[in-house]
Amino acid sequence: MARSDPDNLFITGFMGTGKTVVGREVARRLGREFVDLDALIEQKAGKPIPAIFAEDGEPAFRALEAAVCEDLCAGRGAVIATGGGTLVNPALRTLIHRTGTVVCLRCDTDEILRRVQNDQNGPDRPLLAVPDPRAEIERLLTEREPAYASIPWQIDTTGLSPAEVAGRVFEFANVESLAVSHPGGEYPVHIGQGLLDHAGWVTRAAGAPAQSRVAVVTNTVVGPLYLDRVTAALQAAGLKPFPCEIPDGEQHKMPATVAGLWDRFLAGGLDRTGTVLSLGGGVTGDIAGFAAASFMRGVRFVQIPTTLLAMVDASVGGKTGVDLPGGKNLAGAFWQPAAVLIDPAVLQTLPPEELRAGVAETLKHGLIADPDLFDALADGPTTGTTAITPELLACALRVKIAIVEEDPFESGRRAVLNLGHTVGHALEKLSDYSLRHGEAVGIGLVAAARIAAGLGRAADLLAESIAAALAAWELPVNLPPVDPAAVWDAMTHDKKRRGRIQRWILPREIGRVEIVEDIPRRVVLAALQGMQAGPGADQSTGTDEPTGAEP
Ligand code: NAD
Ligand code: MG
Repeated sequence: MARSDPDNLFITGFMGTGKTVVGREVARRLGREFVDLDALIEQKAGKPIPAIFAEDGEPAFRALEAAVCEDLCAGRGAVIATGGGTLVNPALRTLIHRTGTVVCLRCDTDEILRRVQNDQNGPDRPLLAVPDPRAEIERLLTEREPAYASIPWQIDTTGLSPAEVAGRVFEFANVESLAVSHPGGEYPVHIGQGLLDHAGWVTRAAGAPAQSRVAVVTNTVVGPLYLDRVTAALQAAGLKPFPCEIPDGEQHKMPATVAGLWDRFLAGGLDRTGTVLSLGGGVTGDIAGFAAASFMRGVRFVQIPTTLLAMVDASVGGKTGVDLPGGKNLAGAFWQPAAVLIDPAVLQTLPPEELRAGVAETLKHGLIADPDLFDALADGPTTGTTAITPELLACALRVKIAIVEEDPFESGRRAVLNLGHTVGHALEKLSDYSLRHGEAVGIGLVAAARIAAGLGRAADLLAESIAAALAAWELPVNLPPVDPAAVWDAMTHDKKRRGRIQRWILPREIGRVEIVEDIPRRVVLAALQGMQAGPGADQSTGTDEPTGAEP
């Protein structure tokens, strides 16, 4: 799970926005190496930039710039001030976005003009050696706007001192951006404290044109907490947001709610250039995503997940939909988001039981493919919700991303994400949904490990380790008071069942799972019987039991 050096931090923006001064200050505060791209180019060329422009021409300068930049992108950990036009080159822009975090400095034209006139010898000033510099600045700004607007992290430096700007850049230094590719393209998942306030430029960078409409779908619980901040951020980036509130709860995850949203979208003036933004947990995301997929045959969709479960699971992978009276998630569509924005700070308002439910699914991701992630959670909430760090979220997401990239339409490997869900779904149903999904999945994880042990495919210790980690988060590890035979019957009616074959996802060890078909009833019942709470039963939470205690 641990990551080594931080990514490069690029500071870009138009001439006169303070890239070099700010970059040097940020590097100093972070204790990282500072690289001024223009200075490096001059060094390589053996002459100043105005001379490169005059003697070799702008194309030669751009080629040199690209070569130097490619070298820098092979390294890590530096703070790099780019030239004003560096990111205009699309190939270079892609490379820079891929290998680092990019912050774009902005400034109004008057101040740019003032700053460059006070500093005639700046490296990229040859572009302003024209009769009307102001007109030239405006022309260049317009020409470069698409390149600058593709950057999600923007700071307006107008009226700010370099130290103040450096302080703002600092906020982005630890943003983690993951890329998810799918058959139709790619989208970023950005993770970082405080990112809610940057939802606007993230939405612009995801393709929303200036002045376009954004339907912000949120519910009556999350809206009062975060809608104002997100609305302000969208407006600051030149977008036109309008709120679309839905009621809270899974019982509203139904077609009527989606139809209500279509009406709201129309009333709010959303057209095909517009964006649907989901601000909420998995329920809001599934509903908003399906509304985005179907409105005018599909509009751009951006996700801001606000529960742990939605952050590590529901917001990525493109599954959207609603429930029908006949069952959960029975109507929906694959509709990929254009961007996912995760601000772990919002977890502070999440009710503890919702956080725990998300932990069960996060442990599941560790169990599937990342032992370090599992270990990081195994001791419980030692430091409150701050136990859920951006790094931990990134690790859990990497597991999900790798799986959905391999199997975007859930035709094979993606089934492993259902680890713990076969028994989990049955328990949810049998408890009449008094058991939360996450709690039921947690118990299902223990059951799957016990079944694997019963088949001789996993060590007995595995179930104990899982139970101990769940118990550390105060998650249940025993069966609720139900008859194991009833659990078996409920499972054989699970919709995840493919034809007549019962497919099980079983852990082999922490970080490795397999798919096993048709496990004998007696093996499953034996595993479940050992998980019944009450006198005489195996009360194993893994905390006070010797290893391998089978009934
Ligand atoms: P949820 O969306 O109902 O959120 C749980 C509760 O927390 C709600 O009351 C919500 O209003 C509240 N809440 C959300 N964020 C909050 C915050 N920051 N502060 C305070 N309260 C907050 O439930 P969930 O667990 O996030 O999602 C469950 C849903 O996700 C299910 O419908 C499930 O089917 C779906 N899901 C979808 C996928 C997928 O791939 N699309 C994957 C897993 C689950
Ligand atoms: Mg689940």
